[in-house]
Amino acid sequence: METAAVKQISPKVAQTASIIKAEGVCLSFGNVKALEDVGIDVGQSEVVTIVGPSGAGKSTFLRCLNLLQKPDRGHISIEGQRIFNDAISLNKRDLRDVRRKLGMVFQRFHLFPHLTALENVTLAMLDAGIATRDEAVETATNLLDRVGLLKRALAPAPRLSGGEQQRVAIARALAMKPRALLFDEPTSALDPEASREVLSVMKELAQQGTTMVVVTHEMKFALNVSDRILFMEAGRAVETGSADDMFHRAKSPRARAFFAQALDHMET
Ligand code: ADP
Repeated sequence: METAAVKQISPKVAQTASIIKAEGVCLSFGNVKALEDVGIDVGQSEVVTIVGPSGAGKSTFLRCLNLLQKPDRGHISIEGQRIFNDAISLNKRDLRDVRRKLGMVFQRFHLFPHLTALENVTLAMLDAGIATRDEAVETATNLLDRVGLLKRALAPAPRLSGGEQQRVAIARALAMKPRALLFDEPTSALDPEASREVLSVMKELAQQGTTMVVVTHEMKFALNVSDRILFMEAGRAVETGSADDMFHRAKSPRARAFFAQALDHMET
């Protein structure tokens, strides 16, 4: 590998409290080293996108941040609270609290098919015991409005398009009042129009100051919305920097080639 992980503190991290900090995260699946010494520091209201070729370890790293996947080694803190310290893991209850701090949006939406959009969002709050039914309905209504789905609130989940279902999933994640949202390729199961709808909601969330970590192949989104990009390849954090620097002045040859190709695709 040509470069060691280049650590760079973004302006927002320098100015604001760290929301997510991971250091030296390593994970192997049998002989496959999925992650080797990967780190990230995400400040309040910062949008970090993680990009790189398939199999680079991007999703695995994202899943490690909320311990959906437990690393072999490394340190992970959320708002300064250590949640993973090498082999020491949290008990079930603390783990649930951690996951609630980091809302996750997956490639597939996992909505309950027998419930409406509104019920899918309220149920998350009622299950977590963080709202009364009336409060949950009010919050869910506001959130569905925020993702542009107020008119579809009473539609059964299976009647919603893919883009609408993903926007309900985003509202559901926001309903838990997370400190940050983690997105794992949120548009890769969607057609181009549905992708645009979802990316536009994500862009608005970013503009409203939502802290976000996004694994994506949407390079336009990475260029236009990220405060910072982490480029991964073969289980390593090859380079990190501002979107402008990564697309136009990446230091490592691999990152330069990757972003040059992305720019080519965006122009055609
Ligand atoms: P990316 O998100 O960059 O496409 P992944 O994080 O999905 O990459 O995968 C990184 C590597 O880890 C790949 O070689 C993949 O095959 C392997 N991997 C991921 N999850 C598992 C798993 N549960 N079991 C075995 N290997 C896995």
